[in-house]
Amino acid sequence: MTETPSTCPYCGIGCGVLIEHDGQRITGVRGDPDHPANAGRLCTKGATLHLTAADSVQRQTRLLAPMQRTRRGNAPHTVDWDSALDNAAERLAAIHQRDGADAIGVYVSGQLLTEDYYVFNKLVKGLLGTNHIDTNSRLCMSSAVAGYKATLGADAPPCSYEDFAHADTVFITGSNLAWAHPILMRRLEDARRARPQQKWIVADPRRTETAALADLHLALKPGSDVALYHGLLHLLLAQGLTDAAYIAAHTTGFEALAERVRAFPPAETARLTGLAEADLRTAARWFGESPATLSLYCQGLNQSASGTDKNAALINLHLATGQIGRPGAGPFSLTGQPNAMGGREVGGLANLLSAHRDLANPAHRAEVARLWGVPSVPTTPGRTAMEMFQAAADGAVKALWIVCTNPAQSLPDQAMVRRALERAEFVIVQEAFATTATCAYADLLLPATTWGEKNGTVTNSERRISRVRPAVPPAGQARHDWAIATDLARRLAARIAPERIALFPYTTPESIWNEHRDSTRGRDLDITGLSYARLEAQGPQQWPCPEGAAAGRSRLYADGVFPTADGRARFADVAPSPLAEAPDAEYPFSLLTGRLRDQWHGMSRTGLLGRLYGHEGLPAIDLAPADLARLGLQDGDLVRVASRRGAIVLPARASEGLPPGQAFLPMHWGQEVLSGQDAQGQPLTGVNALTTPAFCPTSKQPELKHAAVAIAPVQLP
Ligand code: SF4
Repeated sequence: MTETPSTCPYCGIGCGVLIEHDGQRITGVRGDPDHPANAGRLCTKGATLHLTAADSVQRQTRLLAPMQRTRRGNAPHTVDWDSALDNAAERLAAIHQRDGADAIGVYVSGQLLTEDYYVFNKLVKGLLGTNHIDTNSRLCMSSAVAGYKATLGADAPPCSYEDFAHADTVFITGSNLAWAHPILMRRLEDARRARPQQKWIVADPRRTETAALADLHLALKPGSDVALYHGLLHLLLAQGLTDAAYIAAHTTGFEALAERVRAFPPAETARLTGLAEADLRTAARWFGESPATLSLYCQGLNQSASGTDKNAALINLHLATGQIGRPGAGPFSLTGQPNAMGGREVGGLANLLSAHRDLANPAHRAEVARLWGVPSVPTTPGRTAMEMFQAAADGAVKALWIVCTNPAQSLPDQAMVRRALERAEFVIVQEAFATTATCAYADLLLPATTWGEKNGTVTNSERRISRVRPAVPPAGQARHDWAIATDLARRLAARIAPERIALFPYTTPESIWNEHRDSTRGRDLDITGLSYARLEAQGPQQWPCPEGAAAGRSRLYADGVFPTADGRARFADVAPSPLAEAPDAEYPFSLLTGRLRDQWHGMSRTGLLGRLYGHEGLPAIDLAPADLARLGLQDGDLVRVASRRGAIVLPARASEGLPPGQAFLPMHWGQEVLSGQDAQGQPLTGVNALTTPAFCPTSKQPELKHAAVAIAPVQLP
């Protein structure tokens, strides 16, 4: 048996794994003791990866050959790769010619490797001539990106995991770290053992497993995050705990913000957030008096119609107290997906370009055009995830190419998304698994490789680039995502722009990565000092790591200089916004969504393993015991949960962690176990039958975390 070092394909912690194999079959997996993210540890998902690669599982679930449908609704039949790719190129070229480039939308995934992402981005913006490429990372980190850019000037998390060991106060807000990022929770527990003075504040409406471990739990009302942060800043000012010297030397815009937070005295903040004044005072004191305060945050802030403001208001607290750029201090967004960061680095989103360049910046567009050797890149911003599917539902987008993601289950407002998939003239689904709900809508299915077979790089939450290495050959006829994109790009170019065939010369992932690396020269994420060979020799590295650097940088902004025009960070003077859909008389419950400990996203991989159902075996909606009693329900009784967009039926369960008026439903469950329908009676499944399509106007990230719902007992015949 051989062990091949690689990276876990689940969450953005980016744990290193050692894959045990015989060259043909994967037989085991263990944590890589030399990987700086996890030092040998794995959570239950990572530790069972090898079981998802077992032959019996692969045979039942993998897409093993290209398949196409002659008519929607028919069973797909197998075709050879040449026919499949020629068919795809022909159909896309015809739509391109008839309806224009903007009639094509490409929707990719934070599960893709950086090299895959790079080719797709170039294909869409450099060949097709549109910016209509977006990614399911839009559902994950786009508010964090917008929050960083609005305040610190660049999409660059300033901290590292090693900061856990230096923090005296840890403010965990909008994150159930214990379940969503289990290995980081282990690391934080180690830090508190070694540093007994370390205090944890957890802000979360629910008493989660993370909140239960906190020294102070702030069970704020859903959506009241900005009011909480403004209220804390009010107290920091009142108690003389802001850092006037830091504010004067390194920031702009404090006066306007200070004026705004005058309106958030403790009594008012308590009213807005539902928190006790004493708890607000304690939190402000711990935040401001601590020698080093670290904030950890995730989807509770990001997946909101005011996600950018929530991120920016939290970062305000760090700037006002000078809690940034020092060991153990700073705002630290935790990445959901394994390579949401890498996708941003190559610009694989509707509003970005390569190496953190902005599409809206003419100089950046010109630089990318020069790097790619094309006359220009298109100027009109692309459609973001929800906009792309809405445009398809409205008939403006005619072709959808969906790669390594399952929008029929994972996007909000499932009824609209499924209408889009039905209405689109041509749908390509490029996938490893044949079992996702989206596969049913595909005219053409292209089999892709997956973990254990893929080769390339990913970047984790702390800006660390790790290699993903193959242990076994691709299953069946599956091909690598970058290779499928390269081949299809060349066939497409032959039909619409033959002079651009040369844009896609790639024969290895390393050749793509080198082109990406060279595009970062002089940028905030400069990695010109790195190579595959250096990653091989020295292991995973953090960016920036410019040419000549002895190592990547673990902490940003230590010098107080920020990547803005004047070198100063900017305070964000933002007002609290209401929830996109507040509870009312008709839909009186606040439905919150989140992760389970042992499942990942839509369960296309974790859902294959019986042992991962040991923690949570069946879907249920959690309700406060008082609400259960008020509705005349016993634990396990069926309820109908309805929003303005659809309804599902499932068991209810009492949870002491929820106050009356709130409900919680995990995001993972889909077609296998939940049934429901939309307003027209069409079948729907899962939590996204209920969620709202509302999104943040800046980041365009949907408010997946909250919807107003009605809950009623189901009368069995
Ligand atoms: Fe994988 Fe995340 Fe678990 Fe680490 S914590 S093993 S990256 S799922």
